[in-house]
Amino acid sequence: MNLSDTPAQLLDGKALSERILNSLKEKVEAKHNAGMPAPGLATILVGNDPASHIYVRNKRRACEKVGITNIHHELDEHVGQAALLKLIQELNDSPEVHGILVQLPLPKNCDYNENEVLAAIDPAKDADGFHPFNQGALMQGRKAPVPCTPKGIMCLLDECGLDLKGRHAVVVGRSNIVGKPISLLLLERHLTVTICHSRTRDLAAEVNRADIVVAAVGVAELVRGDWIKPGAVVLDVGINRNEEGKLVGDVEFRAAAQRAAWITPVPGGVGPMTIAMLLQNTFEAYNA
Ligand code: NAD
Repeated sequence: MNLSDTPAQLLDGKALSERILNSLKEKVEAKHNAGMPAPGLATILVGNDPASHIYVRNKRRACEKVGITNIHHELDEHVGQAALLKLIQELNDSPEVHGILVQLPLPKNCDYNENEVLAAIDPAKDADGFHPFNQGALMQGRKAPVPCTPKGIMCLLDECGLDLKGRHAVVVGRSNIVGKPISLLLLERHLTVTICHSRTRDLAAEVNRADIVVAAVGVAELVRGDWIKPGAVVLDVGINRNEEGKLVGDVEFRAAAQRAAWITPVPGGVGPMTIAMLLQNTFEAYNA
């Protein structure tokens, strides 16, 4: 992406994730050379959602690249909650499996209970960091697997080399997988954090006060470029299709890049970091 006509520097998640994956590959090779077994990530995909198939395929490819063994289970959408819980229990008990990922969302037409499924994963093998025990640990600032997208956002933010203490972060979106956990990670790093959501009264004014903006909404270009405070860091989590069918984020990229000091592109920003962090979580679980 060419930003030569704007003051903003690009936070390149693709390049950073490749560096992280290469470094993980070296670490996995070192374990192999020392006669240790390979780390293993189990992936479970239920049903036929096309987007989920693409996400899981990309995660499996990354495993292959790094030398992490992938144990993949694809289940019919009607397999049901009990069979899914039984499989998770088997993977919890397997010494070859160090991380477990259940691709969400689960099919809507059967009575799957996502919370029950996530809670069935051994917290020590929780590669996505969604288990309630690990989410509680995050709230208490204790060491535990951290959800991949927020963890990747923090890595990108660290690339800016800023002293974050006391700065004002505005997080747009309050989901359990992005908005809430990234808010806690920012708080842990001593930022002052404002969480905005669909009922926030004046989103433009909130965003305009931010030194760091994290947009995790799922609405194409909701955050307008002229809302951005000059010199801010903009981290765009959203993946949306605009009216022309083009992939865009939650931030109006071109206009925001005229004001921001740092900005992530979509695609090639936060997305690739999520996969790198999944593999990093798996490797950390293997080492634990
Ligand atoms: P979600 O639907 O669970 O949550 C969206 C949040 O946005 C909600 O908390 C809601 O209150 C808030 N919101 C909705 N409309 C709003 C508005 N008009 N103003 C302010 N806030 C509003 O979404 P999510 O799972 O957190 O995902 C958000 C986006 O990030 C989606 O586009 C998703 O595809 C993307 N995503 C990307 C990655 C990645 O790896 N890049 C990972 C997860 C999610």
